[in-house]
Amino acid sequence: MRLLLIEDDITLVQQLKPELERCGFAVDVSHDGVEAEYLGNEAIYDLAILDLGLPKRSGIEVLRNWRKHDNHIPVIILTARDDWHERVDGFQAGADDYLGKPFHSEELIARIQALLHRVHQQPAGLLKADGLSLDEEAQSVRLDSGATYTLTNTEFRLLRYFLLHPDKPLSKMQLSEHVYELDADKDSNVIEVYVRRLREKLGKTRIETRRGQGYVFRSRLT
Ligand code: CA
Repeated sequence: MRLLLIEDDITLVQQLKPELERCGFAVDVSHDGVEAEYLGNEAIYDLAILDLGLPKRSGIEVLRNWRKHDNHIPVIILTARDDWHERVDGFQAGADDYLGKPFHSEELIARIQALLHRVHQQPAGLLKADGLSLDEEAQSVRLDSGATYTLTNTEFRLLRYFLLHPDKPLSKMQLSEHVYELDADKDSNVIEVYVRRLREKLGKTRIETRRGQGYVFRSRLT
């Protein structure tokens, strides 16, 4: 999943970005409201983390503009802990969740995961499909046969994206956009390599190749 982190506090960004990446998120950063609003309309992000006090355009304004133009990107706003007014304004502007500063990054990550599950109509807790479950903390997949595999960060990113978008064709381009960051070398052939590695672990029939369309992750094996 690819996140847009909108925050002008460089120290906070330097601390958060690597932690989010370790948790298997591709992270693009924006430091001001104008650029953030533009990037958030690019439709490549799965979720935005939006600070409210930003240079050039306030976070609230950015959020209002997105919603006014039917941009429904899931948004977690970062607010001052003791300012209940900001939180109310945020929800009224169309925020999905909020977190008061200062916060523990573990809480932000838990909220991101919970919101992504909600948006994709998956239950809270472990991500599951027929015959397997994914542990997002351990970045490991467990099969009902009893086998457990620890995944590399890219395998994990890819499998999580599949589990949140089951039973629909996903192009290699789409997959690489949601697995890698803006400045990454996005060779979509690399996706083939990782799909092959996932098939070695999960079995050949789990991920179907659709000619000209990409891949379909099957939630049920029958
Ligand atoms: Ca700020």
